[in-house]
Amino acid sequence: MTRAAVLRDTGAPLSIEDVDLAPTGPGQVRVRLRATGVCHSDLSIVRGALRHPMPAVPGHEGAGVVVDVGSDVTTVKPGDHVTLNWTPACGGCFFCARNEPWLCDRAAADALAAPYATSKGEALAPVLGAGAFAEETLVLERAVVRIPKDVPFEIAALVGCAVTTGFGAVVNTAKVRRGDSVVVIGCGGVGLSIVQGARYAGAETIVAVDLSKDKRALAKDLGATDTVDGTEDVEAAVRALTQGRGADHAFEAIGRGATIRTAYRLTRRGGNVVVVGAGRYDDKVEFSALELFFQARSLVGCVYGSADVTRDFPRILSLYASGELDLDRLITGRIPLDDVNEALDAMERGVGARTVVVFAETS
Ligand SMILES: [Zn+2]
Ligand SMILES: [Zn+2]
Repeated sequence: MTRAAVLRDTGAPLSIEDVDLAPTGPGQVRVRLRATGVCHSDLSIVRGALRHPMPAVPGHEGAGVVVDVGSDVTTVKPGDHVTLNWTPACGGCFFCARNEPWLCDRAAADALAAPYATSKGEALAPVLGAGAFAEETLVLERAVVRIPKDVPFEIAALVGCAVTTGFGAVVNTAKVRRGDSVVVIGCGGVGLSIVQGARYAGAETIVAVDLSKDKRALAKDLGATDTVDGTEDVEAAVRALTQGRGADHAFEAIGRGATIRTAYRLTRRGGNVVVVGAGRYDDKVEFSALELFFQARSLVGCVYGSADVTRDFPRILSLYASGELDLDRLITGRIPLDDVNEALDAMERGVGARTVVVFAETS
């Protein structure tokens, strides 16, 4: 028996319930969570903007301690510290064979097909194969990555989604180079990780756009050279900072058609527009046939920072250890599991960068 936040209906608050995890099967790992970040994709699933089988346990940005492993598990053992990987790549599909594990076409299906948990006899689904709004979870072996024991769990949790998504968007997807100009729309956990990735990559101009004054100030502390209030004329401000051309790269970290359209306009001819935010399935973006040709911009989607997590989690954690990435500043709130609904409400209002659910050492 473990306590978990269960989503029973789109739009309803999560209910904290006692759930029964299945016995740890072959290829599975049971993890006692120590920290789980509240990510915008959780909010989107809870509110119905992203569709997911229900009832479900959200939470996919987690870290904790392995407490049990299935018979054939070889990469981790009880006592190991791990970060959850929400795209547990199969290693054998077309995409995995091309070294694009973030696009694995078996990850989601395999994660949902594995035995997981029940509440009051009813089967639950672990959101993104993680189910991390819970004291314990049961995941595929390939959904955990072992991490050094001196990494704080809350930092390890954020590396499981926001940091890898943002940093990876800059380094893996856009391949920002020294001297480039970058604009970031949306300065939550992902956007602030884009800002830090751009600083790490040596971008000369890093413009952070957000509606929140607090988040703009935080972006400046973490490496933004300039900030723009999202209610102002963002295009004029960005052009003024880029010799009238527009930025080499624009990152959209909100997931809305309107801001994707803005990101496109903020980019120079031949520039690079990266859609990092997960938007609604029915939110449309319009482009004219002429502008797509004439502006010669690249418009690319970026899932999970185009990351190979077995390479990128350790890489990011070593940049944290050396002080090159300041991940502590991303955390703007810590809550117990019982307060998760309030944290989702605050995120919806645009308050704070990252709230982390923290769990006691033993339950
Ligand atoms: Zn996430
Ligand atoms: Zn695969």
